[in-house]
Amino acid sequence: MDLLEFQGKEFFASYGIPVSDGAAATDVEEAVAIAERIGYPVVVKAQVHTGGRGKAGGVKLAADGDECRTHASNILGLDIKGHIVEIIWVEKASDIAEEYYVSFTLDRSAKKYLGMLSAEGGVEIEAVAETNPEAIAKIHIDPAEGLDRDTCRQWVEAANLNPDATDGAVDILLKLFTAYVEGDADLAEINPLILKPTGEVHALDAKVSLDANSSYRHPEYAKYDETQPRDERELAAHAKGLQYVGLDGSVGVIANGAGLAMSTVDVVNQVGGSPANFLDIGGGANADVMAGALEVINNDPAVKSIFINIFGGITRGEEVANGIIEALNRVDIDAPIVVRLDGTNAEEGRAILRPALTDSLRMEETMLGAATKAVELAKTEG
Ligand code: GDP
Ligand code: MN
Repeated sequence: MDLLEFQGKEFFASYGIPVSDGAAATDVEEAVAIAERIGYPVVVKAQVHTGGRGKAGGVKLAADGDECRTHASNILGLDIKGHIVEIIWVEKASDIAEEYYVSFTLDRSAKKYLGMLSAEGGVEIEAVAETNPEAIAKIHIDPAEGLDRDTCRQWVEAANLNPDATDGAVDILLKLFTAYVEGDADLAEINPLILKPTGEVHALDAKVSLDANSSYRHPEYAKYDETQPRDERELAAHAKGLQYVGLDGSVGVIANGAGLAMSTVDVVNQVGGSPANFLDIGGGANADVMAGALEVINNDPAVKSIFINIFGGITRGEEVANGIIEALNRVDIDAPIVVRLDGTNAEEGRAILRPALTDSLRMEETMLGAATKAVELAKTEG
């Protein structure tokens, strides 16, 4: 679950991390009323599930009501990287002496938490990692040990922040770590974490992703459901009872079994393509399920080819083959299809498919061969 900035700040504030006073609005007059209550200058900020809002014109300082009105009306409805702004956040403007970066994530290969802290905040951390990687102080934290104050202080010192910021930064980093762990977050990032001219340290932005599987421990997370970005493809697929996850590539993927579906996504990547989705049609690859799956994939305009990867188990090869042919009679498919059929009665299934093969329905013996073909077709069609 990805939180909007204002939700992230509310999450931070509940762990005692200092954030600016503010409120969310969905129209211009509401924004002005908030600004009047807080007092000028304020910052008007687009609330969308993407970064780089500042550069896109989605973060503006307003010195008075007229400016607030202008910025609010310009930002509401703004398209930031394909996200239309429907909510704005109005907060008390801060004076900034320095901008830092801090985040906690999970380093799966190290089996530890990873903390990253940099004196070069305010810009995208990927850019810092590329041009000046030694400016990022990293720390691995054993989940069983946690982060103590001394270790945290050493980490802050290693990052070469302004010494005036040390105490405030240590305090916030410890609280952020608690929020990350106890809040079951996958990501907790503050960019920028600011040092004010008065010496206080403060979170000026919030990027938080919560583990949705932990919501049984956090019933209050239900309030974030409403603002989750919706993938129309996922809604359509879930309505048909399909296990579907939208991705942003061009090869539509259909497989039976979650493991095979994941391997199919991997093999498409391995041969240089990019999957448009993960889709597990489960055990019974019958015509109804296959037709539903093809329909969902066909409605995705990004799909340039379709890779059907079935390993017959209890469902025999000839049932799968008949299911595919029957489904193709029911749904008109725009993209070429490549089928790989293996497992129980694969040969019988292939014999059924063979007479139906054309340029738009192909068959390959192996998973790797089929992936290669599907990727090649996606590239020529795209
Ligand atoms: P992002 O561009 O989506 O990461 O949005 P941020 O919330 O990080 O804001 C972008 C930039 O706007 C920050 O790095 C600051 O330089 C600036 N900014 C945001 N809030 C304030 C504020 O209260 N005062 C000042 N002076 N600048 C701000
Ligand atoms: Mn930011």
